[in-house]
Amino acid sequence: MLAQRLLELAFKADLSAIAVSFTAGIGTCGYLWLQGGDQGFLLYWVIALFALSALRIIAHLRNGENGSTSALNLELASRWRWQNVTGLQCAGIMWAVLSMHTIATMPMESAFVLVLVVFSMSTGATGTLAPLNWPAKFYFLLMVGPIVAAFLARPMPEVTLAVVGLLFFLLNVVFHKANHQTLLKSEQLRLANGKLASALSREQAELKSLNEGLERRVKERTEDLLFLAEHDLLTGILNRTGASNYLATLAEHGGSNKKTVVLFIDLDRFKEMNDGLGHAVGDEVLRTVAARLRENSPSGAAVCRWGGDEFLILYPVDGSNALEEGRALADTLRGAVEAPIRAMSHELRVGFSAGVSISAMDQSSLYEAIRSADLALGEVKRQRRGATRVFSDDLGKRFERQLLISQSLRSALSKEELKVAYQPVVSAETHQLVAYEALLRWKSPFLGDVRPDEFIPIAEDLGEIIPIGKYVLDRGLEELAASEFGKTGVKLAINVSATQLVDNRWPQIVESTLTKHGISAEQLILEVTETAFDAADDNLVQSVLRACRQLGVEVHIDDFGTGYSSLERLHQYPVTALKIDRSFVQQMSSGGLAIIEGSLVIAKKSGLKTVAEGVETLEQARALAKLGVDHLQGYYFGKPEFHFNRPFKGPLSDANAG
Ligand code: C2E
Ligand code: CA
Ligand code: CA
Repeated sequence: MLAQRLLELAFKADLSAIAVSFTAGIGTCGYLWLQGGDQGFLLYWVIALFALSALRIIAHLRNGENGSTSALNLELASRWRWQNVTGLQCAGIMWAVLSMHTIATMPMESAFVLVLVVFSMSTGATGTLAPLNWPAKFYFLLMVGPIVAAFLARPMPEVTLAVVGLLFFLLNVVFHKANHQTLLKSEQLRLANGKLASALSREQAELKSLNEGLERRVKERTEDLLFLAEHDLLTGILNRTGASNYLATLAEHGGSNKKTVVLFIDLDRFKEMNDGLGHAVGDEVLRTVAARLRENSPSGAAVCRWGGDEFLILYPVDGSNALEEGRALADTLRGAVEAPIRAMSHELRVGFSAGVSISAMDQSSLYEAIRSADLALGEVKRQRRGATRVFSDDLGKRFERQLLISQSLRSALSKEELKVAYQPVVSAETHQLVAYEALLRWKSPFLGDVRPDEFIPIAEDLGEIIPIGKYVLDRGLEELAASEFGKTGVKLAINVSATQLVDNRWPQIVESTLTKHGISAEQLILEVTETAFDAADDNLVQSVLRACRQLGVEVHIDDFGTGYSSLERLHQYPVTALKIDRSFVQQMSSGGLAIIEGSLVIAKKSGLKTVAEGVETLEQARALAKLGVDHLQGYYFGKPEFHFNRPFKGPLSDANAG
């Protein structure tokens, strides 16, 4: 690399060196000619110089790159190298010949001029020949050496001049060495710089491609992450984030004459499947359902897993008959989902409950519609699982009221808006007072009178029934104790929700409240609906009730006949009486009678007493007594009042008898 570079530099200096040598030669010969030098010799010498210069120029031109005189053709470089060195040394020899001939044959003044010319050329060459090493030194020797020899060879040897010439030669060698080394160093540096620069640019290129690679990977990762962020891992369909991003797109590009069908779907019996057969089976069921929902949804519909076993379908449709499309889609999907599912050697069926709503294409309506579909679904789950319910304005109003109720209910107790009313229960045989049923009343400053049928289920959902239940127990027993009936053995029946019975502190609460008001346990009745025994924790419910029974408290099954609890298991429950629902009493002439008679048979067999509620007429009272019902309750005997009012139909022994 370095040698080549030096050769290039030598090539660049070549032509001017030839020119200097040529002009100096012609000039010197001209001068010597005028001083009377040997004309024949000088003529031959000039011709030889001319020929040599021509050869050197030809060699130069032949080795240039594409005819250029300043750039060396690298392929021909080594050829040019020896041609150049040969040409140079030949020129040196010619000057040597000229010097020796002149010093030997001409007067000293002429010889001095020649020596001056040769010395200055030699000195100039320390610079121009800096790229060459040994050939340059040899050239100096050729230029100066013969002059020194010629001085010494004169008849009167010029020793001083010879010594000066020798010194001059050494000086030239030293200068040339310094020049050569400086050039070498600078070229080495240049080369190193060049290497550095190319390494740098190579590194930059590598860095650039590395960066590009990284950028590409980051982009891919971002896309992957976005997919993960928007999709459900288990089923591969959209998740909630994906759904809400889809909603945003709908709102942006939906168009005003379009509507979106929103379908909220819940799988019935999924939890039992998942708990009973294991999560692997549950996962397989969810995957299958998701795939079926996707396959059976029209293109353009987004299928999302909302969480657990809940799915959401968003389907933009032409505005005109969105509702029909929604219903049709629900039917199609129901058919697909309810078909048997094979999961790990089990053949399973899941139920399909759905809430449907229709939305305009703006974001807030869309979110509202999801909520509405969810509410409609909630209604399905409460009333008749496996159905589809379309969200209506009525339903909306009801939910709105329920929302108001749940908001006001939280503070109703502390604001003393809740009161307890008491309705008498009498003996069917004698119509004598045996008990009072405590019934909650709520007068809300915002909502007016709210019926317990309306607010009790909400209180149960909110968990508010726990403090409210304690309040009824406490207030009822307190007022009973304060009334004239506290000491006469008249009982108090309170209604207890299933939620209260999955709390194993309940028996203690009952016991301490009884003690607090000095009422014996035998005077308290807990009315429990059949649904309490359907609860997931029916073992806990049974043990809580058993503990209450052990205290001496009675347990009645309320609304008997309206639930679906297994009648065969009735004897397992720690109950003391069945309370026949008022709907049967009021329909005694049309079908209700059979159920009452059936209930009485069951009660007799299980050794339970019976109470009939909703008795509004004397006829009903008589008929029920005749059938063998033990106790009666209803408007005929007294409405729920805030005081312990005596039944206004006195005992049968009075005027009313017969
Ligand atoms: P329930 O336990 O079946 O209460 C009997 C309901 O029938 C009461 O309605 C009562 O006012 C009504 N009733 C009584 N006699 C007649 C009659 O002759 N004709 C007619 N048409 N109705 C009659 P109310 O007070 O509206 O209570 C409704 C339900 O609210 C109760 O049904 C009970 O399930 C629940 N409830 C009331 N208070 C409480 C409470 O303190 N705790 C719990 N957990 N539930 C309560
Ligand atoms: Ca009751
Ligand atoms: Ca009832």
